[in-house]
Amino acid sequence: MRLFDSHSHIQGREFAAGLPDVLARATAAGVVGVAVCGYDPESNQAAIALAATSPQLFPTVGYHPHDANEVTPAALAELESLARRPEVVAVGEIGLDFYRDLSPREVQRRVLNEQLGIAVRVGKPVCVHSRAAEGEIYEHLTMYAGSSPLRGRGRPVGVMHCFGGTLEQARRYVELGFVVSIPCTITYQNNTEARRIAAGLPLSALVVETDSPYLPPRDLRGKRNEPANVRAAVEGLAAARGIAAEAAAEATTANACQLFGVSIPVKAGAL
Ligand SMILES: [Zn+2]
Repeated sequence: MRLFDSHSHIQGREFAAGLPDVLARATAAGVVGVAVCGYDPESNQAAIALAATSPQLFPTVGYHPHDANEVTPAALAELESLARRPEVVAVGEIGLDFYRDLSPREVQRRVLNEQLGIAVRVGKPVCVHSRAAEGEIYEHLTMYAGSSPLRGRGRPVGVMHCFGGTLEQARRYVELGFVVSIPCTITYQNNTEARRIAAGLPLSALVVETDSPYLPPRDLRGKRNEPANVRAAVEGLAAARGIAAEAAAEATTANACQLFGVSIPVKAGAL
């Protein structure tokens, strides 16, 4: 089974100890690719540095909406130059978070739009964080999708990470050219909407993720999540659709490669 974790933060301090073991467990579980997602200046640099250690780790760079208030024009210029680097596969995570509201909403909107502009200019997809903002962020992403050069190339314009909306909302993002990412929380008993989304969208529009160290699967609640557990998201997705886990793994891995514009060798090495 070949698995691709489309969203993780394994460059963070939660993984400072024992990262080689984490990567070895992921390899043993069949993980052949991991996106390492930045969210502030330090984590962006750390994502690029960590990804340089393996051709199967893929860095993304962006400023999280929680910290939007601290994003200066100089920081945006810095982000654009990082986003242009050939090894960087996406701009993100970026978005709106009206649940925690850690930065003023007006500032979140402005910083999101600045970063969507960077993604258009560098011609890379976006990793979108949206919490309690699924209605409003749609307007921003519609404008973005209309100008992204990726659409004309037949590639996804981005990924809705840990999508928390409804199946009906998810379909509208797929129409815009986004793929939707299913996290390990699909295994939670009360998460019926995630299973509806996994069953109701075309398989070609789905990827899986861990969001490590957050959002562990049901059986590991309260523990640090890690890329090996992406298997639980694939199994949850496969069960929701009534297909074999192997088929779900192959499809979501191919979709993640298409999203990020990368390829994994048939005989993939260890992470
Ligand atoms: Zn994240």
